Amino acid sequence: MISIVLIGPPGAGKGTQADKLAEKYGVPHLSTGDMLREHVARKSPTGIIVAAQVAKGELVPDNIIMDMVRIRIACANCTEGYILDGFPRTITQATWLDAHGAKPLAIVLEVTEEIILDRLAGRERQDDKVETVKNRLKEYATMTSQVLPYYEQAGRLFRIDGNKSIDEVFAQIVQALEPHVSSASASTAQGQ
Ligand code: AMP
Repeated sequence: MISIVLIGPPGAGKGTQADKLAEKYGVPHLSTGDMLREHVARKSPTGIIVAAQVAKGELVPDNIIMDMVRIRIACANCTEGYILDGFPRTITQATWLDAHGAKPLAIVLEVTEEIILDRLAGRERQDDKVETVKNRLKEYATMTSQVLPYYEQAGRLFRIDGNKSIDEVFAQIVQALEPHVSSASASTAQGQ
């Protein structure tokens, strides 16, 4: 069983690194942002409720997100674990995950504001508009950064320099995780 959460501001590279980790360990990459955008695109009941918040870059209510994650991590392909990207973003979500999922190892990708703005300028997503990005950075600074001391106190936080290249960042993450990931998870995945 492997449970990893990726934390970091927009543009930190969470999605890219989550994809690489999912491939290495043979478990799914679960992005709450992607799940929400999918709900919005198909105008599901959840999508209708959260559309404005996602578009503005505001956090959607904890109960909606936790319900979505609860259903997803109960799926058959999550029995060996998962890489969560964009969740948890609040203390409530972090404590909920500890109680309802496997206690995760938390990776925080630390990046300078200059790099964030640079990277986001190259993306074309609806919720990457300037105003939205500002809101998302504000949400990160006020809410999500509070999640870091939570994992730090639990001895499960790994700070990674996210300013480097994709491969360099990945190498740092793998090195940090190595002593904490059971060799069984890694070798099973490599054998697939
Ligand atoms: P992301 O792609 O992870 O940056 O998420 C895009 C948007 O979805 C965010 O700006 C929030 O509006 C919403 N969102 C994603 N994950 C969460 C979460 N764990 N809690 C609250 N809102 C979220």
